[in-house]
Amino acid sequence: MKLRGVVHVHSRISYDGHESIARLAEFFRAQGYAFMCITEHSDGLTRENMQRIVDECAQATTGDFLAVPGVEFSCRHRLHILGIGVTEPVDSHDPVPVAKHIRSHGGAVILAHPCAYGAENPDELAVCLDGIEIWNQPKDGKLGPGSKPLRLWKRWRVLNPKLRAIGAIDLHRLDSPSSLGVELHVSERSPAAIITALKNGPVRIVGPWSSLSGESFPGVLGEMKFNVMSRIYNGLRSMRDMWVRK
Ligand SMILES: [Zn+2]
Ligand SMILES: [Zn+2]
Repeated sequence: MKLRGVVHVHSRISYDGHESIARLAEFFRAQGYAFMCITEHSDGLTRENMQRIVDECAQATTGDFLAVPGVEFSCRHRLHILGIGVTEPVDSHDPVPVAKHIRSHGGAVILAHPCAYGAENPDELAVCLDGIEIWNQPKDGKLGPGSKPLRLWKRWRVLNPKLRAIGAIDLHRLDSPSSLGVELHVSERSPAAIITALKNGPVRIVGPWSSLSGESFPGVLGEMKFNVMSRIYNGLRSMRDMWVRK
């Protein structure tokens, strides 16, 4: 069956999140989504809070809505890696051991906003990942994927042909409603099936004005279209920032 949900959600267990997991579940369920993947920042995350993520996700899971626990691990090179389904701490800040840690605990490994914060993307990381956020809503906007992450996906697919593209809402509060979801094919309604589907695909990224496959690159025309959209978004954003600074 096909399920549509949201990936990369922070609750107030994260230092910069504002909502409870129960409230987030209620909100996304009311929006018609069937699942959400919680990814709390690893910074300052205690063992007690890691257990809280697991417990609160289990409580928020109902017959028609799944809350999948996970952590967004902060790593060197200003990289953030989502471990979906993993709430075990890791002793390293190097992206490759962190990615291996997530994989060895059965989680889906997704590189978050790869081109934000001046992050460096070491090529050796490509083979350790299941997915890469080519479209992170706060960073790339609502029109389409970012041109830089799209280019990185294209380059890394040569190194890792199974690397799939993901769209993520990276939500911290509910005052900015989001409509960027992912569509997965699952064998059953369970958090484990969501994790398996994120690892094995197929995935479709569904935005408010455009959607794209997470498996196959959009092609020359598609890439051109998304580059134009990304330029429009960045242009409008810098105009807004200039206006705000005035
Ligand atoms: Zn992040
Ligand atoms: Zn985040």
